[in-house]
Amino acid sequence: MTAEHDTLASSATPLVSAPYCDRCGEPAGTGTHERCDAARALEPPRYCPTCRRRLVVQVVPTGWTARCAEHGVSTSPN
Ligand SMILES: [Zn+2]
Ligand SMILES: [Zn+2]
Repeated sequence: MTAEHDTLASSATPLVSAPYCDRCGEPAGTGTHERCDAARALEPPRYCPTCRRRLVVQVVPTGWTARCAEHGVSTSPN
C-alpha cells in the first residue's frame, strides 16, 4: 500500500501547443480571446504561447519575427 505513483504522472510533458494566448498572455483556455485573435491577424504576438515570456519582436519586410529566450524564433505565417 504505497502512494508513489504520482512521480510517473508528473514526469510526462503534455503536448499542449499553446497554453497561453500569445497576444495578452492569459491562459488560452480561460475567457475569450476573440479580440486577441482579431488583433493577431494584424499584429505580431507579444507573449510566448508556451512559457508566457515576453517576446522580442522585430518587424521585417516579410512580416515579423518573435523570439522567445527559451523557445527560439517564430515568424509570421505569411
Ligand atoms: Zn488573449
Ligand atoms: Zn517560450
